[in-house]
Amino acid sequence: MRLLVVGAGTAGWLTAASIKRNCPHIDVTLLHDPSIKSIGVGETLVWSMPRYFHDILGLKSRREWMKRSNATFKIGMSFQNMGTLGAVVDSAYAPDLSSKWLYSSQDPKTIFDYQYGHESAEGSLLEIWINLHNGGKYGDLLQSPFPGLADGHYFGEYKTSIIDKEGNWLLSSELNGYSYNYDASEVGNVIGELVGRPFGVKEVHGNVQSVVTEGDNIKELLLSDGRTITSDIYVDCTGFKKQLIKHLPFKWHSCDEYVNNSALVKPIFYDGSDNRARLPSNRSAMYGQKNGWSFEVPLAHRTGNGYVFNSRITPDVNQIADEYNEFLGPENKEGDLRLLQWDPGYYKQIMVGNCMTFGLAWGFIDPYSANNLAHTIQMLQLMIQSGDMDRLSKNPNFISDFRNKYNHRGFQLWDNVEHRLESVFRMTNREDTEYWKIMKDVGERNNTREWVNEYVRERDRMTKFGNKSMLHTYILVAQRMGIKLDNAPITISEETEKRFIDYFMKKKTENEIKARNSMPLKDFYKFFYSDEFPNQHI
Ligand SMILES: Cc1cc2nc3c(=O)[nH]c(=O)nc-3n(C[C@H](O)[C@H](O)[C@H](O)COP(=O)(O)OP(=O)(O)OC[C@H]3O[C@@H](n4cnc5c(N)ncnc54)[C@H](O)[C@@H]3O)c2cc1C
Repeated sequence: MRLLVVGAGTAGWLTAASIKRNCPHIDVTLLHDPSIKSIGVGETLVWSMPRYFHDILGLKSRREWMKRSNATFKIGMSFQNMGTLGAVVDSAYAPDLSSKWLYSSQDPKTIFDYQYGHESAEGSLLEIWINLHNGGKYGDLLQSPFPGLADGHYFGEYKTSIIDKEGNWLLSSELNGYSYNYDASEVGNVIGELVGRPFGVKEVHGNVQSVVTEGDNIKELLLSDGRTITSDIYVDCTGFKKQLIKHLPFKWHSCDEYVNNSALVKPIFYDGSDNRARLPSNRSAMYGQKNGWSFEVPLAHRTGNGYVFNSRITPDVNQIADEYNEFLGPENKEGDLRLLQWDPGYYKQIMVGNCMTFGLAWGFIDPYSANNLAHTIQMLQLMIQSGDMDRLSKNPNFISDFRNKYNHRGFQLWDNVEHRLESVFRMTNREDTEYWKIMKDVGERNNTREWVNEYVRERDRMTKFGNKSMLHTYILVAQRMGIKLDNAPITISEETEKRFIDYFMKKKTENEIKARNSMPLKDFYKFFYSDEFPNQHI
């Protein structure tokens, strides 16, 4: 089977390299126009990335690809003024599933699973957490719903690295509990260089001008220099240009007019003679602003920054630019703000005829949950590990089942994100500016807070809402906004409560000691990327 990926941004290279490395008999070509740069933003990644880079891309040595991408370890996120003016919430990153330890010696029915959460008679880990947290008895100890999250918390708090001077890894898991920040304009090339090309992805330069279709299928692509190119399967990774799929009957789902659709972005380089020695934090930060929100992503050589807003609510870009420049401060005046605009929404299908789509072309809503890349890796991982990609390459008749399965799953992912984003912006307590008043009004009209609370309270939510994994995201969102959700109505035995609290206490003590003794971030990346770093396997 011939598979042609169009586009060499992060999504294009990820797709081509992942498929070729894991299904070597597929003939993979990557076509792109080097004169059209990748978008160059999108630098803070989801928690599933370390496992994907390790297992699917086979990038076992982190230092090698991270150094070339000026990447850093992301230990958590910091949220300021996001839902409540004055609220500052530091949240460490993804769960370390060793939280199962908590009940491992018990009846298997009581083993908690943070996503599926209904195994235990008393309630899921999250439900127990929300009850104890809302009860207020344990104060800061229960800041995070996952004991494993405490792994990263203190490394963020003390601005220290998760690897010590001897090169020892300090978190309890090597592939969970953290993620990466990377330079978005570099990482696609790095994946191409380290995985794509060595495993045999063929690269062709050219600009797709038009698409010849036959029914729902692509027959051939016409390039601007007159060449034509054909394939069995096509993958559109051309970003907001959607160069292939716009010619096919993909169905677009538009988000409503209250969803943000613009950003002013700018990289800010650290000054000083060694620019790898200035890292401000190992948490990416999100700040609620007057007319939207802004992000700061700490890389090894600079931060990636942007102010996200809705031009239908605030049409004057200069107003946003002035506000943002004031926020960034006079010391960060250098460099222009770049305006990015998009139509917030997503395609309801991932595949029509013989054409798939990944990355920004597939959809994009708000950078707060910029999940198109997370969805892309989730879909690729499933296609590869289930053997479906292999099956498709050997049996062309399988294409219809393949399309149905992935269209269904892809739609579910987007539907979840749209709901999560609604909860992020519309459960707000803020009323201090026109933008937040509008968000709050829309939320009240849509009963956003009520349905999120109902979802969290509802023991039978899997049947009622048809989704298993949303509970923890709503709880996290509310926590980051400084909002208390209703308790799930459960009774917790004294023994469970004691085990739970003992475990949190144990994690807190262990991690605080490790973090206090670890290397300060301001020195770490200089050392990590130097030849002196002792552990070459990390
Ligand atoms: C403001 C903002 C913030 C974001 N923040 C995050 C974040 O924090 N985390 C995250 O995971 N994601 C984030 N994202 C999303 C992230 O940027 C993208 O998912 C990621 O960069 C992948 O982009 P892409 O490869 O789909 O598209 P692009 O990077 O735009 O690449 C498009 C490719 O298509 C090629 N191309 C285009 N037209 C043609 C043509 N006619 N012929 C041939 N080739 C063509 C170009 O040469 C290029 O190689 C953010 C996005 C925005 C807008």
